[in-house]
Amino acid sequence: MSDCLFCKIIAGEIPGKTVFENDKVYAFRDINPQAPVHVLIVPRKHMDNILECDAETAAALTDAVQRIAESEGVDKTGFRVVSNCGKHGAQSVNHLHIHLMGGKQLPERMG
Ligand code: 5GP
Ligand code: ZN
Repeated sequence: MSDCLFCKIIAGEIPGKTVFENDKVYAFRDINPQAPVHVLIVPRKHMDNILECDAETAAALTDAVQRIAESEGVDKTGFRVVSNCGKHGAQSVNHLHIHLMGGKQLPERMG
């Protein structure tokens, strides 16, 4: 996926502020944070969105969510995980990503 922004960030061609990484996932700070903690967690392997996500990748993403919530200090206070999918989901980057947001009280309702 030579034209994918997040593939370029994973490859280091575009800088990203790394929060966590292992062989399956890469996590970095959102460039336009919507909360004091706003981390994007992506599989290293390109997949467009959650519709293409296999069980092994889903497990790796979940593991990363748990580790990052703890390392960012929001595991006790709470946080939100969101993955926008497709047009009506307002997905703007077509590489599967999980938003992890926390560090403040988020609104009860989204949108
Ligand atoms: P989406 O709207 O697809 O759910 O989320 C895409 C997210 O990627 C947005 O929150 C946006 O701020 C973030 N983003 C877009 N371009 C860049 C970039 O170049 N670097 C980083 N770190 N985040 C980006
Ligand atoms: Zn990609």
